[in-house]
Amino acid sequence: MEKTLPPAGKLWLVGAGPGDPDLLTLRAARLLASADLVVHDGLVGAGVLALIPPHVTRISVAKQRSRHTMKQELINDLLVRETLAGKQVVRLKGGDPLIFGRGGEELDAARQAGVACEVVPGITAAAGCAAQAGLPLTHREDASAVSFVAGQCKDLSDQDWSGLAGHGRTLVIYMGIATATAIADKLIADGVSPDLPVAVIERGTTADARVLRTLLTDLGDLVAREAVKSPALIIVGKVAARADALDCLGAPGVAEKLGNFA
Ligand code: SAH
Repeated sequence: MEKTLPPAGKLWLVGAGPGDPDLLTLRAARLLASADLVVHDGLVGAGVLALIPPHVTRISVAKQRSRHTMKQELINDLLVRETLAGKQVVRLKGGDPLIFGRGGEELDAARQAGVACEVVPGITAAAGCAAQAGLPLTHREDASAVSFVAGQCKDLSDQDWSGLAGHGRTLVIYMGIATATAIADKLIADGVSPDLPVAVIERGTTADARVLRTLLTDLGDLVAREAVKSPALIIVGKVAARADALDCLGAPGVAEKLGNFA
């Protein structure tokens, strides 16, 4: 009897963009329509998930900050196993797959297992949310450098952010809402002006997005006052004063100081 080779599977690490399905790449949309299996995380919005045809199997591996529904190693094993079984597997991740989403670990696992893997870039939250809010991360007059950092609790005090915020620079903090007060304190202790403008973009690019602005010294209070929830970005720098934002001017003197920066 003639032996048939097993079908060749492939793993695609695909960026879903920041939320709005219109911000998917054409390649991502095409792959969602032709996949056998889509493994997605919690950041991927309902509008993007709605593009997956009903016959395509989907598995959610949503994670929450304090509660991991599926450990990273198990996700890696799942992706490798299903691809080796011959499936076209789309691993769909919010934003860009290789920015703060542990996509690098999934890529390593695929390489180690000898699985064919391709990365499809996505619009990362910083770029997508800021642009849609009319906030230029760089600006000829205000900022010629931009940095992306992760602000989650784990090893926050060990992270060296000195020189990343301040004159001529923009600092974008992912996963920083739970530690917003500690982040502001850390930056101010590093010598950043407490009066530097800050923008907070919650659920950017989606229908219920909110863009708030204040000064660095008021960041923690703003997050509490406005009950800002993840996913949200914190953008620190003079460019934040340019945001097309609903100002949140609860703290005394904020309006006047923001005006000075504009
Ligand atoms: N790979 C993703 C980031 C994953 S880390 C990317 O490239 O965008 C998750 C963090 O991204 C969230 O805690 C939040 O800080 C940010 N984020 C993702 N989507 C967002 C959105 N629509 N609005 C604001 N922040 C977002």
